[in-house]
Amino acid sequence: MMAFSGSCSCGAVKFRLTAAPMFVHCCHCTDCQRQTGSAFVLNALIEADRVKLLQGGTRSYPQPTESGRPHVIQRCFDCGTALWSNYGGREQVRFVRIGTLDEARALPPDVHIYTRSKQPWVQLTGAGVGATTGKPAKVCQEYYDIAALWPQESLARRAAVFR
Ligand SMILES: [Zn+2]
Ligand SMILES: [Zn+2]
Repeated sequence: MMAFSGSCSCGAVKFRLTAAPMFVHCCHCTDCQRQTGSAFVLNALIEADRVKLLQGGTRSYPQPTESGRPHVIQRCFDCGTALWSNYGGREQVRFVRIGTLDEARALPPDVHIYTRSKQPWVQLTGAGVGATTGKPAKVCQEYYDIAALWPQESLARRAAVFR
């Protein structure tokens, strides 16, 4: 299994993913655009216990959501770089910001979601091959059917943490 190391911009927080992610998202929703100040966010979905904090501390920033379901961003305590999110009050899976990883380019998205609100200049034709599926990235107007898109091994890992 590949291990990925990551850090915030000031270097106070260092962490490592001790496994490959279960799945990789590129989210084009307006919340992600606002929270990042950018066109989309790249997240590696992985079990919380496979994110090993090597040094430094994080602070929780709860976000308002349209659905009312919790979304908490963990940021470096010192520089505020967003490192990962937890959604829906589920602590077992983290959405790790791929741009904080040293080998970010090794994790292209398996799926593009909420493309209904993508920036019009973002072209998703030939969007590449997904990191975990090894198949061309799926492009979805909104969300997607996990059972249909995730690799079997990832579904088994997910089932194990949400038992
Ligand atoms: Zn920092
Ligand atoms: Zn989003």
